[in-house]
Amino acid sequence: MPVNEVLREMRSAWVSTVSKRLAKGEGTRLLFRTQIDSFYNLIIQAVETGEPDWLNTILDEWIQSRTQTDLEYHESTIVPILEQIILVTYEVAGVSFDGNDALQVLGAILPILTHAIGYATQVETRLYIQQILRKQEESRISLERLDRSKSDFIAIAAHELKTPLTLIEGYAAMLRDRANENNGGSQHLVLIKGIENGTRRLRQIVDDMIDVSVIDNQLLALSYQPVWINRLLEIIQNEYRETVAERHLGLVINSFPGSQEMTFGDEERLYQALRNVISNAIKYTPDGGSITVDGRLLPGFVEIIVTDTGIGIDPEDHSRIFEKFGGLGEASRHSSGKTKFKGGGPGLGLQITKGIVEAHGGTIWVESEGYDEVKCPGSKFHILLPVRKHPPDEKMAKLFRASVQTGELKDPYE
Ligand code: ADP
Repeated sequence: MPVNEVLREMRSAWVSTVSKRLAKGEGTRLLFRTQIDSFYNLIIQAVETGEPDWLNTILDEWIQSRTQTDLEYHESTIVPILEQIILVTYEVAGVSFDGNDALQVLGAILPILTHAIGYATQVETRLYIQQILRKQEESRISLERLDRSKSDFIAIAAHELKTPLTLIEGYAAMLRDRANENNGGSQHLVLIKGIENGTRRLRQIVDDMIDVSVIDNQLLALSYQPVWINRLLEIIQNEYRETVAERHLGLVINSFPGSQEMTFGDEERLYQALRNVISNAIKYTPDGGSITVDGRLLPGFVEIIVTDTGIGIDPEDHSRIFEKFGGLGEASRHSSGKTKFKGGGPGLGLQITKGIVEAHGGTIWVESEGYDEVKCPGSKFHILLPVRKHPPDEKMAKLFRASVQTGELKDPYE
């Protein structure tokens, strides 16, 4: 049966089960049957057009009506409602259809609902932070308390998101198994890939939130090992090859003094830091622009410089962007998606980058004439990292000396 017919057939069971389920708990105040009905219409429209943004307006309405109250984030978020909707969808599809039809309907709806969770989280995050900022203005609470509120919020939100995320990941795995068993065909596998892409993106947001909490509480533990900056840059260049080609951007990575020398650092964390800065340069540069990575060797330090021809940053925001949610506040500066032009995330990337660089004993700063989407003055991010001849902790230093002795590694400074 074609998917839109399956969707129409399931409508009344879906609407009545969702309404009953939500009336029991979370959504009583908000979700009436008519709204559930409209929500389902929008799901159908989203499936038919392949455009999950159809749900955004109704999600905005739900979010608005809940965040205007004085509830805390974990009481006002609509994520648990969407989680219930996913559960009901799974149940109703399982009861109403068998085999391929159930798989088809889940494969069509789940990516849309995953997108809805991602969208709702971003909008709620923005609204919640604006609310905190407003409260701060009103009562002039101290900056430390504001920072604490942000940290608490991140910890709670990461926790809230973990449950639905794990749920969707589980369903996606089940769907993949069933599709493989039924010889589900490439059509289903494409849909399942859509769900997996959505969950990967959400997982990244949750991981970022956890990283921020770790950095905030000074718990970032670095595992020092030999690192070559040029190798990290090469991996990042390969990772973005497709995006860069699609968006007609130039991503030039120059070899510079210091980039090919071994230094000690946490390879994974440094990769994460460099990737954040380069992916931002890609995000905030319009199609056709260019990003150049260069650098130099200074006494005891290596400096990595990422220059883009993007929209630039106002001088007054040069330090704010390294704070938690430093990119929030102006929704117009964001589109959805990770590497699309202005595809903003929750505004945690640079704070994590700064945390990583500083934990290595380095520093990061930005230069830019200003923010101008027409003239595109560009931005220049500088990352200064100490060059370490030996790992800073004794255990690693011993291991390193042993590897040099056995000839496994070469000490570049001797
Ligand atoms: P986000 O997830 O919003 O990209 P980040 O912490 O990575 O969060 O960046 C914070 C903000 O800094 C961004 O929202 C953006 O406004 C600004 N920004 C970062 N890098 C650039 C850049 N290369 N060009 C212009 N603006 C940038």
